[in-house]
Amino acid sequence: MSTQAHPLGISYEFFPPNTDLGREKLMGVRDALAERNPRFFSVTYGAGGSTQARTLNTVQTVRESGITTAPHLSCIGSEKAQLRDLLHRYREQGIDSLVALRGDLPSGMGGIGELRYANELVEFIREETGDHFEIAVAAYPESHPQAPSFEKDLENFVRKMQAGANLAVTQYFFTADAYFHFVDRARSLGVEAPIIPGIMPITNYTKLARFSDACGAEIPRWIRKQLEAYGDDSASIAAFGEEVVSRLCQRLLDGGAPGLHFYTLNQAAPCLRILDNLS
Ligand code: FAD
Repeated sequence: MSTQAHPLGISYEFFPPNTDLGREKLMGVRDALAERNPRFFSVTYGAGGSTQARTLNTVQTVRESGITTAPHLSCIGSEKAQLRDLLHRYREQGIDSLVALRGDLPSGMGGIGELRYANELVEFIREETGDHFEIAVAAYPESHPQAPSFEKDLENFVRKMQAGANLAVTQYFFTADAYFHFVDRARSLGVEAPIIPGIMPITNYTKLARFSDACGAEIPRWIRKQLEAYGDDSASIAAFGEEVVSRLCQRLLDGGAPGLHFYTLNQAAPCLRILDNLS
């Protein structure tokens, strides 16, 4: 992720499409975003056989752009042998960046596997492959939903960085001060690595509300109320969302954020409109 860095370190996350149409569309999205010379692309990963194969295929498609592409890798539900195999395959294919996660077990899926938390996965990657991979981990400015407290979650985040992660990407949020507070606290505990804010463009209120409930990201009341008031008026939702998220990004960058990581949901236009609004 470190080569030919965009001065602002903009990066984009994709999910593996599961239809031919989705795959074709993603190539267009990839090309539109690659033109802006991003720092890296990343591709999400799900626990379970078929979704893992889709991540591998999508990583290959996205890498054709020539932009560094980081597969996400989660450890929950996997045995060390499977993870080792995947790490060596990635290394042989010339992949040198990863986003290392614990992940979440889909309901009804078996045991948690041999590694319980992301810090154990980071340690395992370092044991298996030394310094080959640049490793990003997840950070939660508003706390991970399962964390017993903000302080415990922060300690666990620091443990993950100390295990050998090079950078962190945050869960999305809409309150800039949550990010600044988290970064200040992490710095006070000795974390010096970049902590890149994760940015979710607002395009669809129903989906955003569902997502946010599941991952513990707070939609501030004033944003929620305004989005609710627009009802089915998707043009107004998109315009308001663009304004709110552009202002958030500007504040983050003005306050020293080392870049922006967009949760693209495999759409280029909302991200590009936000970038074009930034000074
Ligand atoms: P961890 O860092 O392991 O933390 C999980 C919980 O356990 C936290 O509450 C933490 O406080 C606690 N904890 C951590 N370490 C310890 C320890 N040693 N002892 C006790 N408690 C501990 N999910 C996917 O399935 N696929 C993806 O591709 C994906 N990509 C993501 C990308 C980003 C940038 C982010 C922010 C999230 C992503 N997720 C993804 C979601 C993520 O998998 C979930 O949030 C998951 O619940 C936690 O993963 P983690 O790596 O943050 O876990």
